[in-house]
Amino acid sequence: MRFIDCHAHLAYWYKRETTRDEYVYFIKQAKEKNVDYIVDTISYPADYNHYESQKDFKEILRSVGLGRGIPKEFGDTAPQLAKLRWELENRPPNIIGEIGLDYHWEKNDGMQRKQQKLFADQIEMAHEFNLPIAIHSRDADNDLVRILREKKADELKIQIHFCTCKKETRKKLLEMGCYLSFGGPHTYANELMEMVKETPVERILTETDAPALPVIRQKRKKGPRSYPSDVSVVATKIAEIKEIELDDFANIVMNNAKFIFGF
Ligand SMILES: [Zn+2]
Repeated sequence: MRFIDCHAHLAYWYKRETTRDEYVYFIKQAKEKNVDYIVDTISYPADYNHYESQKDFKEILRSVGLGRGIPKEFGDTAPQLAKLRWELENRPPNIIGEIGLDYHWEKNDGMQRKQQKLFADQIEMAHEFNLPIAIHSRDADNDLVRILREKKADELKIQIHFCTCKKETRKKLLEMGCYLSFGGPHTYANELMEMVKETPVERILTETDAPALPVIRQKRKKGPRSYPSDVSVVATKIAEIKEIELDDFANIVMNNAKFIFGF
């Protein structure tokens, strides 16, 4: 069976550019655990040139976008949107991401509105370039659904990365055709496990969000908390929760991923 890590951050590993040796290592380590593909996410224009490393690896699928931290860091988002547009025109990724809203870390009203605007602008670009979107959303369920509806995002392919949305919201997202992406904590944190149980396998993607999220319950520690290879553990546990053969589950997830990321 073959696995896929549908969301990780490899290009910049702990605030420094990943070396080619590290890239080779991540991919080799993943292959040893039957992980064939890794979606490498870059949400800051300063990192876009990492394309030069990514492009040499057929195992790497690319997610490129403008993250929710952009308005706070840069103020005016227009020049950043121009940089993203250049990427979409010249070296199109598999998906635009991660984009979205985070009200857990951003409590300021004005800044939240700027996040909404940047999110909406990128959904428009997804329509224009006919690309799917990978969404980060935390404590922002109502605005998430509202903006997706306003921007007719149900016409797009959508990955909800590390889904933490409430039950009613997830129902709406599934009706819109979204795919929910689950990571390590979904396999051991009770309220997240419920989500796994309630989601049809035909809409599930597996991810690590490496290096950020742990795959097993662990205390916060310095250094990487996961690697893309760990998605094999995530998939194994989700298959157990769903009471489905791992082989079958892996196949379904790979097909889901092929649909979303277009490979
Ligand atoms: Zn991420």
